[in-house]
Amino acid sequence: MMMPGMRNDGRNWPTAVTVAAVYFVAAKLGLKLAFVNASATAVWPPTGISVAALLVLGLDLWLGVLVGAFLANLTTAGNVWTSLGIAGGNTLEAVAAAWLVSSRARGADCLERPFDVFSFALLAGLLSPALSATIGVASLSIGGFAPWPAFGKIWLTWWLGDAGGALLVAPLLIAWSRPGAGRRLAESPREAALVFLALIAVSWAAFGPAFASRPTGFLVMPALMWAAVRLGVPATALAVAAASAVGVTGTLLGYGAFARADPNESLLLLQGFLGVNATAALALAAAVSQLRAAERELRAAHGELERKVERRTAALAEQAKELSRSNAELEQYAYVVSHDLQEPVRKIAGFIDLWARAYRGRLDEKADVFVGQIVDAAERMSALIRDLLSYSRVGRGAPLSRVDASAAARAALDDLSSLVAKTGAVVALGDLPTVEANPIELRQVFENLLANALKFRGDKAPRVEVSCERTPGEWVFRVRDNGIGIEAVHHSRIFELFERLHPRHEYPGTGIGLALCKKIVERRGGRIWVESSPGEGSTFSFTVPA
Ligand code: ADP
Repeated sequence: MMMPGMRNDGRNWPTAVTVAAVYFVAAKLGLKLAFVNASATAVWPPTGISVAALLVLGLDLWLGVLVGAFLANLTTAGNVWTSLGIAGGNTLEAVAAAWLVSSRARGADCLERPFDVFSFALLAGLLSPALSATIGVASLSIGGFAPWPAFGKIWLTWWLGDAGGALLVAPLLIAWSRPGAGRRLAESPREAALVFLALIAVSWAAFGPAFASRPTGFLVMPALMWAAVRLGVPATALAVAAASAVGVTGTLLGYGAFARADPNESLLLLQGFLGVNATAALALAAAVSQLRAAERELRAAHGELERKVERRTAALAEQAKELSRSNAELEQYAYVVSHDLQEPVRKIAGFIDLWARAYRGRLDEKADVFVGQIVDAAERMSALIRDLLSYSRVGRGAPLSRVDASAAARAALDDLSSLVAKTGAVVALGDLPTVEANPIELRQVFENLLANALKFRGDKAPRVEVSCERTPGEWVFRVRDNGIGIEAVHHSRIFELFERLHPRHEYPGTGIGLALCKKIVERRGGRIWVESSPGEGSTFSFTVPA
């Protein structure tokens, strides 16, 4: 079976030899602290080294572990067979730990999430060392290098020693093998220096001569938490290792919280204490780092969003500029065309009229009909041109002043007097205020709205009401009629240029009036709208900023 991280391409020989050498040296150092049996020690960094190596560099380095462990044991006690058995147990321990952590706790990324940290502690810290302890102690006992009755005691030492190695040393190597491991420390070197000074101080207070045999181990916790919360996972792993080093040194000298008559017992207690706290600190560091990363991602996403919005806004502004430029050009064009057409069209209409009067009844009947149609068309054309011209003139430098809206409405009504008389309309002009506006424009708006109110009448004589109401920030003018009304679907359409709802022979018009009103009102910062339904009359409202 190919296990995760296994590469059988032979390129790993130099690395395997290095692993063997490092394992050998660490094992010899650890075995210096062997008290219960020459081959069993409470301090066993090689487990951490082998687990980290296999996890980070690949499972195919197992041979390096086997060779290192074999040589270390062969040169310590026992014979070839016991050494082979012990080395096999050590290797199996490392392979099992690396394989389990790879498949259950994200492999070399196992220190990035709190849950994976706990899984790592369980799989590599507690489970796998049981393999090594069982196989190792059995080998010694079978080979006659350990008495069977001492099996339990030696096993416990072996197991806890390996667990300590896995929990205190492996995280250091794993964390520092990740890219960017030193970044947090480099970012805040002063705080890092402070944390480590404090850590060494409290560790020595806890495990040094100051409080002999008193339970002062808890003193290291705040410093470890500090590292976890502020400096990230690699620094926390380093802090754990530093506290462990101080702890082992102090305890071996017979000092500190865990000093007992039996040095083996002291070291086991110390390892248990440090292992549990290391796991808690690493889990906390992982949680904080995750939180930080999420925050960073959020901030980056936010920044990206802001940049997008900025780009979009700039593009929109550019489009708006473009649009207003082409609008202005179009208006200029409409203005020029309607202005220049006005004169010839007026002439045509005038002469056709003269001609019609002079020759009516003198040619045949058909000619009279044709001439009548030409006169009609010429009149429509000049109305269209007149309306278009006033539409394109809107806003051309018309100044604002205080305008009596009543006067403007009355003037508009005067222009419509013949229509009023013809239709028998009753027009009620309410109390209208003085507002900031252009007098000609205001009169144009009233004239168009009043003309429509009279034009789009039903069977009854028109009743029209003009009123005004003050709301916060603006005046709302209303022109209400009792005419034919407008279906809701057309309420916004009718304010567009040339939009009409009826054929010309029913209601004459150019379809420019309301578009002109809208243009005037909106240019001055107001709004215009209609409330109406068929048969119920219409109310046109527009606002003028106060
Ligand atoms: P025109 O009056 O020249 O047709 P307008 O732009 O003034 O053009 O009006 C557009 C259309 O809106 C009209 O053709 C008509 O269908 C509808 N309309 C305008 N005012 C009224 C009103 N008071 N009552 C009913 N319909 C109206």
